[in-house]
Amino acid sequence: MRIFSGIAASPGIAMGRLRIIDRSRSAVLEFQIPTEAVCHETARLAQAIENTRIELEQLKARLAETNGEDHLFFIETHLMILADDRLITETSESIKTGLINAEGALRRTLHHYREKFARIDDPYLRERISDVETVIERVLRSMSGEADEPLPEQEGQIIIAAHDFSPADMLQINRSHVLAIITEIGGRTSHTAILARALDLPAVMGIDGITGLLLDGVAVIVDGLSGTVIVDPDQETFQALLSRKQHYEYIEYELLKTAHLPAVTRDGHSMHLRGNVEIPEEGASVLVHGGSGVGLYRTEMLFMNRTFMPDEEEQLAVYRSMQQAIAPHPLTIRTLDAGGDKLLEGMDQSAETNPALGVRAIRLSLSMPDEFKKQLRAILRVSADGPVRIMFPMISGMEEVRTAKALLEESKRELNASGTLYDSAVQIGVMIEIPAAVTLADLLAREVDFFSVGTNDLIQYTLAIDRSNEQLSHLYQPLHPAVLRSLRRIVQAAHGAGIPACLCGEMAGDPLYLPVLLGLGFDELSMGSGSLLRVKQILRRCTLERAARIAEGCFAFSTSAEVEMYLKSQITMDVTESID
Ligand code: PEP
Ligand code: MG
Repeated sequence: MRIFSGIAASPGIAMGRLRIIDRSRSAVLEFQIPTEAVCHETARLAQAIENTRIELEQLKARLAETNGEDHLFFIETHLMILADDRLITETSESIKTGLINAEGALRRTLHHYREKFARIDDPYLRERISDVETVIERVLRSMSGEADEPLPEQEGQIIIAAHDFSPADMLQINRSHVLAIITEIGGRTSHTAILARALDLPAVMGIDGITGLLLDGVAVIVDGLSGTVIVDPDQETFQALLSRKQHYEYIEYELLKTAHLPAVTRDGHSMHLRGNVEIPEEGASVLVHGGSGVGLYRTEMLFMNRTFMPDEEEQLAVYRSMQQAIAPHPLTIRTLDAGGDKLLEGMDQSAETNPALGVRAIRLSLSMPDEFKKQLRAILRVSADGPVRIMFPMISGMEEVRTAKALLEESKRELNASGTLYDSAVQIGVMIEIPAAVTLADLLAREVDFFSVGTNDLIQYTLAIDRSNEQLSHLYQPLHPAVLRSLRRIVQAAHGAGIPACLCGEMAGDPLYLPVLLGLGFDELSMGSGSLLRVKQILRRCTLERAARIAEGCFAFSTSAEVEMYLKSQITMDVTESID
């Protein structure tokens, strides 16, 4: 028996026979060319890019037929990378100045991209290099005349192991034969991992060299919960993993059966439970887990790793696919929340002494009104297709809301002038994440249609604890009395003005906090889709009346440790009560 550790990329446990699939990269030779051949090589490059584009369009149409539209976003991403002028200009420049063949030049461009991506701090964005690699690999294959390799025949109960496994490969697998995926590269936030989770396929990634160490047909267990792969398990390990698998599947099965149940307390009080998403592929998962729409769509992803801001049309296309993924439920689109730790190309974090207090979020958007209006027009245009809400991040006072709203009005006028449709009653909300906004909540509430509390930042700024500093994590306390008092004040201000109070920070996804948030009067919670069913389960066991008493009880304590102890004892009592 051998055990390998990797990254737990998609949960679940599977047992089967290993099938190693070679998705190896084309071998690329770089060689010198004479000056007269530059034109020819540049034309070959352009032709290969065009052929790849056609290939991707065809793949997209094929997958849409077999798998529906849900998971096609990655192909859109690949088409966008392919359409980026820099790919062709940088590569053509290398052909010309280095006098090298097109394949060698393309490899150099990829090398350059790899260096740039490796410097990105955010792991999600760093892993986007895998999309660039997949696209360039396709172009190289097209230049060498190799066809896009379909996945080999799949039979029996197999577990696929591959050096890399692209999202397109993922969509070609036959779910009745393939039980899990193991890869040597990739991580939790790669598109392949996102798709594995969306398709409910256990996956362990990042086990360096595993395909070279094992033979086809060997018995393996993939534990996507702990990120381990067990090869040739002994009887005892097999039995232990089997009961772990059964337990996990039983809980998931039971929870999924509740996906259609309304998010309502035992005494009939309903609450909206919605999903937080960053890319359109996540929309389907929100619905599968019973979410009634999206409470926070972080649009930052679309703006990163590029020297130009996405134009209005590109934004519209992406927002539209998000809207279609969750229709007919509402989609809450947050305007660009960049800066701080979420840097755009060309932003230099070291240029600010204190980036968390620097030019970020709404401040950044207001500093570039033309770009901001492009985003607002794209959001407004998608509002013509279904219910959309606009949300401004990191509002600290009235001027910011008023300026943002004035720019929204200007954007509406511009759309009117061109006869473009939008929902004229589109709802506007602000995120409450800065203590000043808590203090001014009663005034802000008169300006907007809803509040959404960003507790990740609100806790950071209220307690002066850097949310990403691991050494301070014990001081990052959602139940800190100062935080709870702020939450109470926000809800009171919202309800005083007759608008709903929503909460979309991580706090919303922890079932422990549900009775407090319900009891304080929140109308909507938005969270990662994986948390929706567990939070709803607790909600359905509560009564509003009891939750209000629990929330009130929290204010009798003066430290977060005391509040937590109290809360845990109350939740245990509540469960017992519901069993009775
Ligand atoms: C928050 O601050 O709680 C929030 C939801 O926004 P983000 O995590 O994107 O800053
Ligand atoms: Mg925030």
